[in-house]
Amino acid sequence: MGKLDGRVVVVTGAARGQGEQEARLFVEEGASVVVADVLDEQGETLAKELGARARYVHLDVGREDDWAAAVALAKEAYGKVDGLVNNAGILRFNALVDTPLDEFMQIVRVNQVGVFLGIKALAPEIEAAGGGTIVNTASYTGLTGMAYVGAYSASKHAIVGLTRVAALELAPKGVRVNAVCPGAIDTAMSNPALLDPATADTGSGGARSAEAAEAASAAVAKLYRKLVPMGRIGRAEEVARLALFLSCDDSSYITGQPFVIDGGWLAGVSAM
Ligand code: NAD
Repeated sequence: MGKLDGRVVVVTGAARGQGEQEARLFVEEGASVVVADVLDEQGETLAKELGARARYVHLDVGREDDWAAAVALAKEAYGKVDGLVNNAGILRFNALVDTPLDEFMQIVRVNQVGVFLGIKALAPEIEAAGGGTIVNTASYTGLTGMAYVGAYSASKHAIVGLTRVAALELAPKGVRVNAVCPGAIDTAMSNPALLDPATADTGSGGARSAEAAEAASAAVAKLYRKLVPMGRIGRAEEVARLALFLSCDDSSYITGQPFVIDGGWLAGVSAM
């Protein structure tokens, strides 16, 4: 028996990274999954690989009409929706005073408005299906500050707030709402070297060579050996297991909480 047998879950930003691992694990655990992303080719390929219990939908989380289409597809394919993982997100590095308003608003639109629209579109469906779960992806930086990611950190703090309010309003309707707060996780977001070396953009317009990608990966590993008490960056599969816990009955009496998964990074400053 799977932990999500019979469940129907929409996972946003599911074409790669943590969302991909969540989609894989949820299908393994018996759920039907709507793989939602703006990366159509990767999303389609993943959904095909996962088989009959996965469908891809193009969903820009900042667009309300895209959410309506995703709900319609989920109901047409599987008859209901009773789960949501709001995972899609973007990151930009900039000092606050150098951040253009457009960049700030772009991050807010995807990370914060995306989660708001997801809750708004799916909560009534989850209630109508007899109850279920919403897991929002905040961040370590949703609970503490980090220099040069001001817009991102602000949007992730907002997600923790939205999670708490949604949990209060939706508990009587049978919908539990929690947040995951990952530290550094080894995906394209924290380590662009993971992108296909032939297509990865270095930010300066050129493609990254395989050697440069390897060197960048080694530098990332070295950085987190030093920064994180557990001595390593996290894996997308580890975050997926936390999202599974918060989406299944193992967490049946938990709602409204942020869950940190960071190898001990947020525990404090080490004097050693
Ligand atoms: P990622 O960049 O590999 O995945 C993000 C996914 O979101 C991509 O598939 C991307 O196409 C999708 N996406 C971007 N904009 C979108 C939009 N408008 N609509 C729909 N999908 C969109 O990175 P990841 O690490 O897998 O990120 C997943 C989540 O985890 C994000 O919310 C991120 O902020 C959060 N997070 C990541 C880390 C980390 O270190 N990697 C740490 C803390 C939190």
